[in-house]
Amino acid sequence: MSETFKALVLEEGKKAPVASLRQLEQAGLPDGEVLVRVSHSSLNYKDGMILKGLGRLARKYPHVPGIDLAGAVLESSDGRYRPGDAVVLTGWRVGEAHWGGYAQLARVKADWLVPLPDGLSPKQAMAVGTAGFTAMLAVQALEDHGLLAGEAEEVLVTGASGGVGSVAVALLARLGFHVAAVTGRPENQGYLEDLGARAVVPRQALSGAPGKPLLSERWAGCVDAGGGHMLAHVLAEMRYGGSVAACGLAGGATLNTTVLPFLLRGVNLLGIDSVMCGFESRVRVWQRLARLLPGSALEAMTTEIELAQLPDYADRILNGKLRGRTVVVLG
Ligand code: NDP
Repeated sequence: MSETFKALVLEEGKKAPVASLRQLEQAGLPDGEVLVRVSHSSLNYKDGMILKGLGRLARKYPHVPGIDLAGAVLESSDGRYRPGDAVVLTGWRVGEAHWGGYAQLARVKADWLVPLPDGLSPKQAMAVGTAGFTAMLAVQALEDHGLLAGEAEEVLVTGASGGVGSVAVALLARLGFHVAAVTGRPENQGYLEDLGARAVVPRQALSGAPGKPLLSERWAGCVDAGGGHMLAHVLAEMRYGGSVAACGLAGGATLNTTVLPFLLRGVNLLGIDSVMCGFESRVRVWQRLARLLPGSALEAMTTEIELAQLPDYADRILNGKLRGRTVVVLG
């Protein structure tokens, strides 16, 4: 039986897309094997860009954004999923090239879904969301390159009060690393310490070109959501053989560095991409997130909003004004 549902729809505008809340028909959904009743989605930096038309990430209008979603299967023509199954989706360019999670119904490919892991509710899964999934990928990349818990030097997290940063701080602390959180907002010091940061570093201390290609060795590893000048500075301060997991560009896409950290200190610059990640790895990452992240940490970093608030919150995430993760409630 076909039903109507509420969605946030973007239409092409002269300068930027125009968002409105609408009732849509189920028959108008894009193709896919699985129809999901979406209970929660989230706001990520990329959603902010799509909502405001930056970077031309979404090109076909009308468009339903939302790069992640959690909910329950309503209909499935794929044997892997049955009505009532709890599922979660991040990546695969959903919310960019395919209608996404800012709607009460979504029709998607079965290959894009992952069963909701035991221990996480749909709301908690979206408190993690794409940002938290990326943080886990980044931490695993550092571990795969030899980072061990309990080492003397600290592991740095940049953009620490944002979505990727908050989850990275909580995960690293839980795994026994000594975490130093970089923030441009000193008022978030208590928040970051509560998530597990041992030290809070002002962003100013790492901004600007490093001056010399190599500075004193300070960091055992780094989850970098900031990019830009800050990343160049961090590379110059990595200890011998240390790794930086580069996730984001909140501080800019230009990287002005030299080859010296790589040649003389064996530093590894690891690129993290959460969009294309195979099913087996995705399931493992979600299960590890469910095991590691305490509900209390997720609660502390989460703000809940409704669809109608998204355009305002998009401005706020792009201006670095949000703290932690923002969950969108569709129910
Ligand atoms: P948020 O906006 O939640 O967090 C970004 C944080 O970066 C801010 O909270 C702020 O933290 C800091 N920041 C803001 N402006 C600047 C600036 N000008 N210079 C340096 N730091 C700044 O975004 P997300 O956590 O969702 O995403 C962070 C980045 O990671 C984005 O670039 C996003 O596109 C990318 N990303 C990449 C993914 C991948 O697969 N590679 C997946 C998900 C996200 P504070 O105030 O504490 O300094």
